[in-house]
Amino acid sequence: MANYPISGACQCGGVTYKLLAPPKLIAACHCKECQKLSTSAFSITAMVELKDLEISGELQEWRRLADSGNTSVAKFCPTCGNRIYHFDPNKPNDIKLKPSTLEDTSILQPSVHIWVSEKQDWYEIPEGVKIAQKQT
Ligand SMILES: [Zn+2]
Ligand SMILES: [Zn+2]
Repeated sequence: MANYPISGACQCGGVTYKLLAPPKLIAACHCKECQKLSTSAFSITAMVELKDLEISGELQEWRRLADSGNTSVAKFCPTCGNRIYHFDPNKPNDIKLKPSTLEDTSILQPSVHIWVSEKQDWYEIPEGVKIAQKQT
């Protein structure tokens, strides 16, 4: 079991944070946007509450319209560009943390894989996790 808080930082260390409590859910997303973002086959998102996150350092912001029709706001380090979290401005307390920036990444085992319809053919979803063809 991981010990909380867990520290996190962007690649250059300009942004640091503490995650105070376990995420509510950890999801892997295989959509094309997440493949671009992660420069990999999928991205990992940890659903956490705003109150469970203590961030220090300057963040820059970029927003786009998601497939759901909601706005997705992305927060990232202005120096190294590392993405720290996303959120929907209509639900400012629900933070979609990009948790590969955590020091202890042993907690990052997704229990659900979404947008499997856009998944890379060579990647096999592990047994026993939930899947969704698109958004859950
Ligand atoms: Zn940085
Ligand atoms: Zn995605």
